[in-house]
Amino acid sequence: MSELNLLAQMASGGVSIGHIQLRSPNRAIHSAAAGMTLAEAVEVTIRELRSLQAGVDREAADIVQFQIELLEDPTLTAEALVAVAAGADPVAAFRQGIATHLRVYEDAADDYLRARAADVRDLRDRVLRALSGARAGAQDIAREGAILVVDDLTPTGFLAVDWTRAKGAATINGSPHSHAAILARSRGIPMIVGLQGADKAKPGAACILDADAGLLILEPGPPTLAHYRERAEATAVRNSTERAHADRPAVTRDGRAIRVYVNVDAPDSLRQVPREWFDGVGLVRTELLLDTSSGVPDAATQAACYRPLFDWSAGRPTTIRLLDAGGDKPIPGLTLGNEANPFLGMRGVRLLLRTPDVLRSQLAAILDAAAGRSVRIMIPMITVPQEFSACRAILDALVAERGAPRAPIQLGMMVETPAAALTIERFDAEFFSIGTNDLVQYVMAAGRDQRELQYLQTATAPAVLDLIARVAQHGHSTGKEVGVCGDDAFQPGALQALLQAGISSVSVPAQRGPGVKSLIRTMVAGDS
Ligand code: PEP
Ligand code: MG
Repeated sequence: MSELNLLAQMASGGVSIGHIQLRSPNRAIHSAAAGMTLAEAVEVTIRELRSLQAGVDREAADIVQFQIELLEDPTLTAEALVAVAAGADPVAAFRQGIATHLRVYEDAADDYLRARAADVRDLRDRVLRALSGARAGAQDIAREGAILVVDDLTPTGFLAVDWTRAKGAATINGSPHSHAAILARSRGIPMIVGLQGADKAKPGAACILDADAGLLILEPGPPTLAHYRERAEATAVRNSTERAHADRPAVTRDGRAIRVYVNVDAPDSLRQVPREWFDGVGLVRTELLLDTSSGVPDAATQAACYRPLFDWSAGRPTTIRLLDAGGDKPIPGLTLGNEANPFLGMRGVRLLLRTPDVLRSQLAAILDAAAGRSVRIMIPMITVPQEFSACRAILDALVAERGAPRAPIQLGMMVETPAAALTIERFDAEFFSIGTNDLVQYVMAAGRDQRELQYLQTATAPAVLDLIARVAQHGHSTGKEVGVCGDDAFQPGALQALLQAGISSVSVPAQRGPGVKSLIRTMVAGDS
């Protein structure tokens, strides 16, 4: 076959050279199939892995061997089997039991051992699938250098992929504003959506994913390959220059210092990220950080996930957003499954106030993890002041129960509904963070999952910028911080407009920090 360009749309920039792997997205497993015991599910998984091992290359076979040996080790399942014998649900028991082992790998000092965590996660999902009666296939192991071609990717489907092996993704459906695309951008994984002619992409075919240009190039010829190798080198040089200056503050040409925070949306978001690159943590998407596949985890499990964020911040602002479930981020047992229009429905703070126990438990977990250190708690999807004061009352009651804190607890809010932006003076928040991903969709009446409405989906639209300037003005007159944590904060065109609108901070994915700081240094903020 000769070189062929398939067109798509950029969701996360970058270029990767690899080969096609067709893959079906993982489904979350919530319950065991009738009659299947945990011991049987382990047996089934070992058999599956053995037959899988026969058909893959040496490298993948070694990974599979590691997984088989782990599963054959009785200590892996001991805790879960004891819990099941005492009446626990096998899915929950196995998930809980393996989490302990997983943490050992995730926290290992040795790079090789740490990289094995992905294999343990894959193993966990295989046993859970077996427990549910579903079968796994060879396509679930990402091969080295794979460019995944899939129908669509959910946030959990994205997180289930081992991105140390897979090098990019092309989806036939999907949108650049989906949460899977947000995750791809935050990890620097090239991704395109709306791939046309996907049936021409055959498994194993050599390819180049040029996400910047929205292209998947099949069977590239030698001149094309040479061109892209050169580009990859140039990008590596630029990245290393930006990183060399990333520990310096971001100050515009006209002298305005802009704080640059980091976004967290997965347990490994801050792994190997130097803390000097950032002024703290500006947004934690807890609904993505936590493993919610069997519902909202208990307070102790949550606190264990939040604690490392405070350790990483080392006294700098640490902003944890309360669960923003709903919309395209369902949580079993919490979100409603039957909404005609989930983005306009029971989402974020609306859902939290409907389930105050979940809200209280999350607040308690955050305070436990902070352990007396200062913390900023941020409420998503606020529309009217009553929602804010209801959360404030619950937080105050909790703090009163626990005794006075040793360090400040600030309560702030996302500004992502037009109603909140238009009445910002009425909210008694200590800081504001503008969620442009949602603010744009609600102001422009253009769903963030609608690929064809891209021309409407930008914070540079005057209607959106006016609202942002309004909120920034309120921040200036009250001395409260107004930042932007939506994806426009790292789009060069939008960033300039946001600075001119008067914002004082941005929060961006870890990989974007050095680039955003160097961009800010080239910009003029003007007097706003
Ligand atoms: C936003 O809406 O801009 C935002 C940061 O929140 P999320 O993308 O998680 O909805
Ligand atoms: Mg939002």
